[in-house]
Amino acid sequence: MSFLDLSMKNKLKIGLSVLLALLAVAGSVGLWAWQNHSHLRLTEGKLQLHFIDVGQGDAALLVLPTGERIMIDTGTEESGEAILAHLAKWDVKALDLVILSHNHDDHAGGLAVLSDAIAIGGVLYAGEAPKNCNLDLREVQAGDAFTIGDVHFAVLGPLTDEESENRSMILRVDYGERSFLFTGDAEEEEEVMLVEQMSDYLNVDLLKVAHHGSAYSSAELFLQAVSPDIAVISASADNNFGHPAPTTVEKLKSMGAMVYRTDRQGTLVFLCDGHTLTRYRSAWKI
Ligand SMILES: [Zn+2]
Repeated sequence: MSFLDLSMKNKLKIGLSVLLALLAVAGSVGLWAWQNHSHLRLTEGKLQLHFIDVGQGDAALLVLPTGERIMIDTGTEESGEAILAHLAKWDVKALDLVILSHNHDDHAGGLAVLSDAIAIGGVLYAGEAPKNCNLDLREVQAGDAFTIGDVHFAVLGPLTDEESENRSMILRVDYGERSFLFTGDAEEEEEVMLVEQMSDYLNVDLLKVAHHGSAYSSAELFLQAVSPDIAVISASADNNFGHPAPTTVEKLKSMGAMVYRTDRQGTLVFLCDGHTLTRYRSAWKI
């Protein structure tokens, strides 16, 4: 992954030392700065997973313990400004990498807005490449894997070249003892293929539920193989598709998963130190 700008990795620490210096010099001004940036201190050394509320779409930000910033999907074009505002609040001024699950507007639509505003090191995609994109594009396929710092990424799907409406990259992320599965808009057909061919890799702690919790995804067989403790559904509160389907939410709950929804809870942030996985300051508003 030579195109990754690994010089980014110390940025978080540099930001913190500047803040500490500011605190030492200026009392009340320093306190204000501390309160507004306290997430830098609380999250240092942890893997951050942000499921950004982009309405009807997907956009997740991963900030690695070594400082690299990666987005998995970029929401809609309309949500681009909201994503930028979220990134700014978390002091993310550039992205080392964007990974697109597939090329639909509600997953790749925000890419142009982001790339107009901030530097992006490169884009990984599977299947159809994003259009009119001048960024460093790399196609990946099932079986590809890479490691950044201590975080491992494995592409589990798609497992077929056949054109299918919502065929998506399936990405597993591992940090320490914890694991996360990103499924884009995969539907039942793709999920069943994963169970048949990738069953050893599906069991994870946190699942980004496929296709906004659609009734045509989250097959029983697939959910049993994944067996998530935490399930995250990204959808808007009043979408026309009936997402998430009540049956999907029920299935997840009956398997013992804690279900989190951006349509109900807004942007969700989780922190992982490699052992524990916690939801970041749920009362904290961004
Ligand atoms: Zn979608």
